[in-house]
Amino acid sequence: MSDTAGVSEPSTCGGCGTGVEDRPATWSLQVSERGRQWLCERCTRDNLRSIEGKLDEAWW
Ligand SMILES: [Zn+2]
Repeated sequence: MSDTAGVSEPSTCGGCGTGVEDRPATWSLQVSERGRQWLCERCTRDNLRSIEGKLDEAWW
């Protein structure tokens, strides 16, 4: 039995391609039409900015 199942697992950032053996809690799971992918902390911020930017463009 393992209490860490699903917590510590190899992951690759869907944005910059950075690979890690143990995924930090700062990574976020992005769900899109193409499936699920993890984004590292930096790419998560960039992604949020791009989303906000798109929303601004759509709004105006
Ligand atoms: Zn990244």
